[in-house]
Amino acid sequence: MSFCTAINCMDGRVQLPVIHFLQKRFDAEYVDAVTEPGPNRILAERADKNTVESILHRVGISVHKHGSVGIAVVGHYDCAGNPAGKDEQDSQTHTAVAFLKERYPNVEIIALWVDEDWNVSEISPQA
Ligand SMILES: [Zn+2]
Repeated sequence: MSFCTAINCMDGRVQLPVIHFLQKRFDAEYVDAVTEPGPNRILAERADKNTVESILHRVGISVHKHGSVGIAVVGHYDCAGNPAGKDEQDSQTHTAVAFLKERYPNVEIIALWVDEDWNVSEISPQA
């Protein structure tokens, strides 16, 4: 069994596209789901400490109990939990990835964007 981890929005429209993308991207059978409304903003701003701790607790189970081989932070079009546009969301997603890399330096962590056609793409780090 192999696992990876999606820190995804709770929006039903983005679940299957992200799962399918990550199964291929990390060559993993199972995608553990850590969902919140707009998790990229939550992890970038870290204003809601309880939710940040809850996310980290769940990611920790995926990493330590399931041996997750990779983590993705996801932002998406038309997000009810994060009204920012793509550019701002991409920046938040990269900030969230950097935050998680401090905790999990040995796990690959990537940033994703899901567009208006529900296509998933990996976004490269900004300078
Ligand atoms: Zn959303």
